[in-house]
Amino acid sequence: MNDFQDLYQEIVMDHNRRPRNFGKLDDATSFANGFNPLCGDEINVYLKLVGDEIADIAFNGDSCAISKSSASMLTDGVKGKKISDAIQIFESFREMITRKPGEDFSSDILGDLEILSGVSQFPARIKCATLPWHTFHTALTENDQSVSTE
Ligand code: ZN
Repeated sequence: MNDFQDLYQEIVMDHNRRPRNFGKLDDATSFANGFNPLCGDEINVYLKLVGDEIADIAFNGDSCAISKSSASMLTDGVKGKKISDAIQIFESFREMITRKPGEDFSSDILGDLEILSGVSQFPARIKCATLPWHTFHTALTENDQSVSTE
C-alpha cells in the first residue's frame, strides 16, 4: 500500500458513505439508465441542461461501493460545467482508465477525479467505475439527438 492507494481507498469509502448528488431530479431534461451485469450495478443519471450548461445532475440506483463513489465524484466534477467541457472530462477519464500499465497520462482537467485511476489496480472493478460515466455520456448524447430533431 502506498500513499496513493491509501488516498484512493479513503476517498472511495467517503463517497460511498456520503454520496454527493444522490437522488432524483424532478425537473430533469435528460435521463439514462446503466447496468453492469458483471456486478449487478444499476445506475440512473439525471441531467438538467440549461443552454449549454449542466445546471444540475443527480444519480441513484443500486450499485457497489466503487460504482457509487465513481458516480458521486463524476456528478461533483461536472455539475455547473459547460457540456463541451464535461465531454472533455469524460474523454479524459476514459483515456486514463483504459490506458495500458506504465503508459504516461496527464490531464489538466480531471483534477480530483484522477484519484479514480486507482481502480486500475483492480481490473475486475474497472467496469464498476466506468458505468456511471457511460451512463452520463448516454444521457448527454440522447439529449443532443432529441434537440437536433426538433
Ligand atoms: Zn460494481
